Amino acid sequence: MIQALILAASLISAATGTAPEASRPASKPASKSSGAEPAFDSTRAFRYLKEQCAMGPRDPEGEGHRRAIGYFTAYFKGLGLTFAPQAFVHADMATGKPVPLTNFIITVPGKDPRRKPVVFCAHWDSRPRADQEASEMLSTRPILGANDGASGVAILMELGNLMGKKPPLQTVYLVLFDGEDYGREGNIEEYFLGARWFADNLPAANLDYVLLMDMVGDKDLHLPMEQNSLKQSPDITTQIWARAKSLGLSQFEARPGPSVLDDHMPIQAKGVHAIDIIDFEYPAWHTQGDTPDKCSAHSLGVVGKLVASLAFRGLP
Ligand SMILES: [Zn+2]
Repeated sequence: MIQALILAASLISAATGTAPEASRPASKPASKSSGAEPAFDSTRAFRYLKEQCAMGPRDPEGEGHRRAIGYFTAYFKGLGLTFAPQAFVHADMATGKPVPLTNFIITVPGKDPRRKPVVFCAHWDSRPRADQEASEMLSTRPILGANDGASGVAILMELGNLMGKKPPLQTVYLVLFDGEDYGREGNIEEYFLGARWFADNLPAANLDYVLLMDMVGDKDLHLPMEQNSLKQSPDITTQIWARAKSLGLSQFEARPGPSVLDDHMPIQAKGVHAIDIIDFEYPAWHTQGDTPDKCSAHSLGVVGKLVASLAFRGLP
């Protein structure tokens, strides 16, 4: 993903910063209201993060990419969920070389057919180069993508675990995007390749909303409201952050954060609500240092708990 620009928070905080909290009905503490909700296991999620990294970089032309396809297939099929690869070929914009890419769509039927389905998604590929490294030797090699890739997918995997045992409120599509981070710096057209393909081939005509998780594993987790999400879907974004507050998840900060171009943008362009949960303040971003030791089970647990709450309780 790319940071488009940072607006002074004060410019829009008056419009978006405080109203949602004030207008939410008094929320009960999660510990009292979520008895029927399966607990998100952050230790297990962190293991999924490390297992992805153990396969090596998952850049589209790497060996780890091929291994990860087998890994995800075995994992989600093992849960007994409907699992569909969405394969397509991208022509590299610089060389014309065909690059095979694969999204994965896992469908979990919900209890309430009157509610529209939701999508929870993350990118599973890792960046083929480490642009933020100063040395050429390091910058031309693919990155491990512990936070930038594996973190969001680790949460989706654990959610699959939970929803394999208990159906969510509304139908959930867990979607793993390929080719998010393929683009060379300066060419935005070659990012979000899987999300673009997905946006052109949505699994349902009417989606409630799409929730993207990217870079959610940072040990030092801060999750302000991503500005493109807030701009397109102010109600859903503020409801999600209000839910986090009601769960006592202080890492979700109800203030506008950076404006980030990410996998939610091609989906927003189709007129579908799409919200990005992202911590863009990550020193190891696009470096060889994006490794599991920069991430924590606790951070995955914070975001996982929120998304599990959305899956099993829905939004108002
Ligand atoms: Zn990235």
